[in-house]
Amino acid sequence: MLRVTVNGVEVEVRAWAEEPAGGPVAALADTELRARCLPALVRWRGRSFRCVALWPEPLPPAGPPDPAPADLAGAVLAQLVHGWRCRVCGGRVAALVAEAGLPFADTNRRRHRWATNCPHCGAHVGRARLHALVLLPDPLGS
Ligand SMILES: [Zn+2]
Repeated sequence: MLRVTVNGVEVEVRAWAEEPAGGPVAALADTELRARCLPALVRWRGRSFRCVALWPEPLPPAGPPDPAPADLAGAVLAQLVHGWRCRVCGGRVAALVAEAGLPFADTNRRRHRWATNCPHCGAHVGRARLHALVLLPDPLGS
């Protein structure tokens, strides 16, 4: 586990093995994203919520079952949101949306490649109205 505090935002990054089944980001454990994100617990101003820490590149392997990051360099915090609908094809997508409103690592967003196309029809995110770090076919159904 990695725990850092930046500008009053406490972030606890955990191994996938520690993420409860059915947790808000558990669906990502079975995707190719697993290599570059880990579940995180954020505490800020008396509230706490689960999200993921997402790095721009895969984390160096540090041994099973999960990579162990040395720090959060380059990482952004993101929420997994279900049920977004492509405005072009109507397909449902799950989106990793950069956590806004936290005074944490805002400049790291520039280091990430953002999603460019709908995972169903390939429409550009501008036409599809799907602006997010990552877009996936929605694991909760379409
Ligand atoms: Zn689409």
